[in-house]
Amino acid sequence: MKKNDKSEGKPKTLTTQGGAPVPDNQNSLSAGERGPLLMQDVHLFEKMAHFNRERIPERVVHAKGAGAYGTFTVTNDITKYSKAKIFSEIGKKTELIARFSTVAGERGSADTVRDVRGFAIKFYTEEGNWDLVGNNTPVFFIRDPLKFSDFIHTQKREPHTNLRSQIMWWDFWSLVPESLHQVTILFSDRGIPRGIPHMNGYGSHTYSFINAKDERFWVKFHFKTMQGIKNFTQQEADEIAGKDPDWTTRDLYERIEKGNFPKWELSVQIMPELEAESYRWNPFDLTKVWPHKDYPLIKVGIMELNRNVSNYFAEVEQVAMDPSNKVPGISYSPDKMLQARTFSYADAHRYRLGVNYQSLPVNKPKAMVSNYHRDGHMRFDGNYGDSVIYEPNSFSGPQQNTSFKEPPLKISGNADAYNQPTTDDDFIQPGNLYRLMPPDEQDRLVQNFVNSLKTVPKFIQERMLKHFHKADSTWGDRVAKGLGI
Ligand code: NDP
Repeated sequence: MKKNDKSEGKPKTLTTQGGAPVPDNQNSLSAGERGPLLMQDVHLFEKMAHFNRERIPERVVHAKGAGAYGTFTVTNDITKYSKAKIFSEIGKKTELIARFSTVAGERGSADTVRDVRGFAIKFYTEEGNWDLVGNNTPVFFIRDPLKFSDFIHTQKREPHTNLRSQIMWWDFWSLVPESLHQVTILFSDRGIPRGIPHMNGYGSHTYSFINAKDERFWVKFHFKTMQGIKNFTQQEADEIAGKDPDWTTRDLYERIEKGNFPKWELSVQIMPELEAESYRWNPFDLTKVWPHKDYPLIKVGIMELNRNVSNYFAEVEQVAMDPSNKVPGISYSPDKMLQARTFSYADAHRYRLGVNYQSLPVNKPKAMVSNYHRDGHMRFDGNYGDSVIYEPNSFSGPQQNTSFKEPPLKISGNADAYNQPTTDDDFIQPGNLYRLMPPDEQDRLVQNFVNSLKTVPKFIQERMLKHFHKADSTWGDRVAKGLGI
């Protein structure tokens, strides 16, 4: 209940779901004062039955989250890169909802844990919803979706103890060296943000922009916090996790209630389509960034969060973020992880919320939706009434519009399962990150690695030390020393 919520006048009559008035909500119907209950007390049984069904399956990943509504305002002209109407003029505002989450923990887990944070935004544009579903890190642990469920299992609970296990983490990371870049960010100061307003967000994947001349550009999205980066130390975070496990959720809610609206500046990195063929890094590898000196940040606009939700379940638990939601002028790329996510998010929502999840108020596009999907569980929106249900038809049903076709994408090579072997490339960017950290942050990074790795068998420690060494020999030596190896 909101503290300032004061009902005025006479309270409404309590009813059953069928609308019948309820004469007694304190005492169940029984056969005699001390006798058994009556089956005909439908209000009692409806109450118990509804309560048993209050929980829907929680998200397998990103289960604990906080969200808020806001606005995106264009500050710079990028129409030469994208024809998306959201960017069409300086000053243009678009409404949005954003959801921020931890990855591994369950719905009631503590907020201030060392984990990647989800950073997901649904822009309600006039051309349909555009969902940018990223993280607070510009890279990810793996670059092939075939490894995704295995990786997530390492972050969950062991089958026999039901406990989380650092052995699973380090065993997997040491066997999948392309994860080192993300692991380094995770164990750096940015692994525990001091609340949502103090972290950056990244689209992480490479996406594409298409302009009015049908030219394609590859694009990376960066949301830089305007509150400044601030992080918790491990000790602070551990204390807060015990005292107030919902700290991050509370912090965001209270800031917005006080009118202290957090803001992020959106910038993009742009790569002309054909440069991808010759660029030094595979621009579609999710374990790599594009160094800023090669592709500088171009400012686009400001995102501000300025309104709390009024019902957490309806608006945050049921919000269905999905990278397959895109608008003309913004599209996918050959990034294998992105390709897989365009399937798996919608698939998860169909399972968790039901096939008609896009019609729920928080997910419903502001743009007109017209198609031939019909029926399904919980069809609560009129189901398009008596309109025609097939296509082609002679009855003015919606039709394709070829003006929205994307330019063809040049692809070469044979269909095959391509091994992306680990090369020195996987160690250069983590090494660059280590070297750009000031000495005190390097100290904390090394100590965080030592504290975690000291709990795992020596053969795993040794495998990891080789990776640290390849990234930067000083870093490897320091962790080895901390582990007494
Ligand atoms: P730059 O010097 O131009 O950029 C360094 C980047 O590192 C900045 O974006 C900075 O963010 C960020 N950073 C600083 N400390 C941390 C940390 N603990 N965890 C994560 N990011 C941090 O160099 P490059 O573009 O050549 O990148 C060098 C390395 O920086 C990369 O290998 C990568 O690890 C990391 N990085 C690069 C990004 C990119 O898109 N190029 C984005 C984020 C990280 P801020 O500006 O907020 O201080």
